[in-house]
Amino acid sequence: MEVGESKKLPFNVPGKYFTTELCDGCAYCAAVAPENFDFEKTSNTYFVAHQPRGMEEEEFLQEAMDDCPVDAIRVEGQLQPQAEP
Ligand code: SF4
Repeated sequence: MEVGESKKLPFNVPGKYFTTELCDGCAYCAAVAPENFDFEKTSNTYFVAHQPRGMEEEEFLQEAMDDCPVDAIRVEGQLQPQAEP
């Protein structure tokens, strides 16, 4: 599936949030939302292993998405990263 200039990684669980092949494995997202991201070592990428379960996890995931250095975290239905407020 094409997502803007990048492709959704196949490891993501189905749902609202996902990572793309832009991910460079920096691990920031897993530090911010450890319950939601996991590492795939053969590709050196992080993926969404659990969609947020509740508002707190949703906020952590949003924070990871906002601060991902390469804009690799996306929301279904949005081709581009969310604009800054
Ligand atoms: S913050 Fe972005 S680039 Fe870093 S591991 Fe997570 S998805 Fe990949």
